[in-house]
Amino acid sequence: MQIFVQAFTGGFDASNPSTNVVERVAAVAERAGPAGVVIGWNTATDYLPIVERLHDVGRQVYLWLPVFSEYGPAASSALDYLGQPHQGAVSGADDDFSFACPSQKANIGLVVQYYQRWFVRYGFDGVMLDKIRFSSFGNGFRAGLGCFCPSCQEYYRNAGVPIDRLAARLQDELNKSWLMPEARVGLGYRFADPLVDGFYCARAKLITQAVTTIVGQFRQLNLRVGLDVFAPPFAYLVGQDLPALADLADFIKPMTYRVTDSPAGIPYEAAQFKAELTANRCPIGSQLEELWATDDLAGRACYDSQLKLLAGLDCAVLPGVEVNHLPICATSPAYVESSLSAIDRAGLAGAVLSWNVLAEVVYPELD
Ligand SMILES: [Zn+2]
Repeated sequence: MQIFVQAFTGGFDASNPSTNVVERVAAVAERAGPAGVVIGWNTATDYLPIVERLHDVGRQVYLWLPVFSEYGPAASSALDYLGQPHQGAVSGADDDFSFACPSQKANIGLVVQYYQRWFVRYGFDGVMLDKIRFSSFGNGFRAGLGCFCPSCQEYYRNAGVPIDRLAARLQDELNKSWLMPEARVGLGYRFADPLVDGFYCARAKLITQAVTTIVGQFRQLNLRVGLDVFAPPFAYLVGQDLPALADLADFIKPMTYRVTDSPAGIPYEAAQFKAELTANRCPIGSQLEELWATDDLAGRACYDSQLKLLAGLDCAVLPGVEVNHLPICATSPAYVESSLSAIDRAGLAGAVLSWNVLAEVVYPELD
């Protein structure tokens, strides 16, 4: 199994980036012996000694970069069906979970621009692209339905989706049971309502198109590309067509986080999905659980069935396994060991120990 570790050095403009990063990452790499490190995305950190030290011992180093979030005023926010900017998700994590529109060219270009400006000189082996999605229901009901800005409206019209009618129905119809997925098909869902079904299909294609453009740009820079994606029960609901994205990437990292109570964590996304739909008159009940034949989307049995489906994808799959003790994602060695052995048994390529080894005082002598 290939094991990568993930290290968060702080946001683009973090005023207090992680300290002693070189020593701490090197210590983890030397002791844990992973295949590589995924690290980012603070701009004040000097990554050169890390890249050099890890290359000396034959490890790969990927730069972790967000795509449709974290760019502040440089990006145009996604707009909900009332024309309001999406609100951020309420979270105990220190990332920004507000989302930009994924169809506007200027937003799509930001990640490569930032790479060229801040990171090109370090000689990373590749990039791992995070936040390649629409807002989830963790950002509220209206944000969870995606972007309705003029650029997205034009995209939907060209794709044959009457987006005006959808926006009108969302405002006018009190009973919204038509938002409920009817069936699970592989790693996606089908909806009984043809308008909703066409909408979800088109929005996934929109994300795939944007990622295709971005991956092409990074490939031209001779970089390998990994993609951070949602766990299967929620990926399609944020616009991620996992088989299509897997075809573009060297690896995907499904965030099959079973304890994380923060965006992308299965317990968090499941609770928000249920609460927001229910509050907006879509009686979702346990429909998602039924489609996954489970009573707990974050449970071990559902984990195994997700891993089995992921094994059919056309690229290396390295699920994220939380290794942190932070209150929002407190795990134990037994949880990590059992997750890794499930991944191994499913025949997947490996795992990414997530989401931030630097958050742990694993090596107190270095602090
Ligand atoms: Zn838009």
